[in-house]
Amino acid sequence: MAGLFYWNGEIVFHPSPSTVRHFFDLVFVGVGYNGRDQSFTYSKLKYRNHASLPPKRVIRSMKLSRTVVALFLLQVLLLPMVAVAQTADINAQIRKEGMENSKIMHTLHVFTDLYGPRLTGSPNHVNAAKWGTEEMKRWGFDHVALEPWEFNHPGWVNDRNTGLMISPVADTLTFEVLAWTPSTKGVVTADAVHIVIPTTLSSTTPPVQQQPTQEELTAYLNSVKSQVQGKIVLVGKPSSIDQSREPSPKRIPDEDNAKRYDPDPAKRTAGGPGRPNQTPPTPRPNALTGAQVGEQVDKFLLDSGALVRINESQLDRGAVRAFNNRTFDITKVIPTVVMRNEDFGRISRLLADGTPVRLEFDLRSHLVPEGTTSYNMIGEIWGSDKKDEVVMLGGHLDSWHSATGATDNAIGCATMMEAARILKAIGVKPRRTIRVACWSGEEQGLLGSQAYVAQHFGTFESPKPEWAKFNGYFNIDSGTGRARGMNVFGPPEAATVLRDAVQPFADLGIAGAINSSGRGLGGTDSTSFNAAGLPGIGVSQDPIEYFNVTWHTNLDTYERIIEGDVKASAVSIAAALYQLVMRDEMLPRFKTEDMPKPPPPPTPTPTPAASPRP
Ligand SMILES: [Zn+2]
Repeated sequence: MAGLFYWNGEIVFHPSPSTVRHFFDLVFVGVGYNGRDQSFTYSKLKYRNHASLPPKRVIRSMKLSRTVVALFLLQVLLLPMVAVAQTADINAQIRKEGMENSKIMHTLHVFTDLYGPRLTGSPNHVNAAKWGTEEMKRWGFDHVALEPWEFNHPGWVNDRNTGLMISPVADTLTFEVLAWTPSTKGVVTADAVHIVIPTTLSSTTPPVQQQPTQEELTAYLNSVKSQVQGKIVLVGKPSSIDQSREPSPKRIPDEDNAKRYDPDPAKRTAGGPGRPNQTPPTPRPNALTGAQVGEQVDKFLLDSGALVRINESQLDRGAVRAFNNRTFDITKVIPTVVMRNEDFGRISRLLADGTPVRLEFDLRSHLVPEGTTSYNMIGEIWGSDKKDEVVMLGGHLDSWHSATGATDNAIGCATMMEAARILKAIGVKPRRTIRVACWSGEEQGLLGSQAYVAQHFGTFESPKPEWAKFNGYFNIDSGTGRARGMNVFGPPEAATVLRDAVQPFADLGIAGAINSSGRGLGGTDSTSFNAAGLPGIGVSQDPIEYFNVTWHTNLDTYERIIEGDVKASAVSIAAALYQLVMRDEMLPRFKTEDMPKPPPPPTPTPTPAASPRP
């Protein structure tokens, strides 16, 4: 034994794991209790029924037995202390490695500055995933792979754009191209026109825009048909953004967060600001859906010979958020951009007062045929005695195309790679296999993770052999904010395991874990696991500026990362990961009779543009 440790409420001296194990082995090898003939064994000697021994040997035997009993009791009493000391030591090592030798900012630099943006189906995404596998190999992971799945759309890459106001004043416009839309035919210069599809305000509070009926839409489009041919068309009203509004809080106050993760469900409060109590408006009779209107307006502009379509970003301070042409087919739409609120507003105000506005665009993109197959990036550290059981962790590596996708979601991927790296670096030999998975196709509907779960695990109703060996999937996908809690699909006992695991990291902001039972597909990849009846673990984070600034916008770059926060997240997750890979029992899961039913499939299926996700 290389050192002493004292127990006085806290550990003063942390023995190394090998010291603890060695001490443990000595005690265990040296002392044993034989239940059958009720004697203790000590080393190679064995003492039986004292009556059969001569008196001196009885005394010697009894003395030795007392020593043996004392040693046994010492072992029993020390057992929990040693286990606690061992965990405390591992936690200290995790913290030190994650804070002092972190690789996370380098990983984020490469994913964003070198390979961003990483749109699904694009060469940038594939190259980022290849680099990620090579990096995990350099860290000593046992197995890395790019696992293909069928995206069924070609990739799309935006090469370069310019957009200018020519008159009444010359200026450069700020915008992003909608993904999977075509290039302009060279440089196009034309007058701007503005059309606003008629909507009706509901009588609810707050009021909601309701879509037109087919008759209303057709009548409106016919009335503007002659105005749009050969023109650059602004579509929709400019947003008016209240400049007096209070900014959203960047961090969740500790007291609020503690209530969210209270171990007692009766004392728990829901997270987030909550939505105002709002009764959904009664649907207008025969009103079209947003998707139906969008499809018809696209066709109208194409058939009418409009040159460029301009949508408005609905964000202030120059931010632009651009999704995709929902058909993924460049022949179904005209070249389309999403323009910043300020430029769109200026042009629409000039047009409204009768001032002609002339614009010029040069938009260039190209398709990538091989992008129809996309890839999930996988890295494994193999387990030992429970190698066939797996604990997964990941996030999506694909991003939207307007920026370099730092907070959505290079961060999720880099954090999980880092959590696994930390355990490898401090010499943990996991009992279960650790598998990092960085998905693609998340932004188009959790496509990569759903394909992976179907291929590897199946579902509760139709399981594959690996389904029974699954021990949880940690997911990060809400920006740069530090991890504040976990939500695991499973029984309350699963949350207890995770709560205990992260409790020593409360000073980093993580409050605990709660359980949930919904199997609906949601905003991010952990729900692909929940949907299959597997324990997805969603990690909640401080909001910082995720939903109001960086989410899917042209501002989502490396500069938005808070180094201390991403390091803290990696450390908390590494600690929870350690417990899941080392514990004797599997992470508790719903028993067969308790498994929640999957929800019925949604109708109509929401499109990515209509149902934003992280
Ligand atoms: Zn995301």
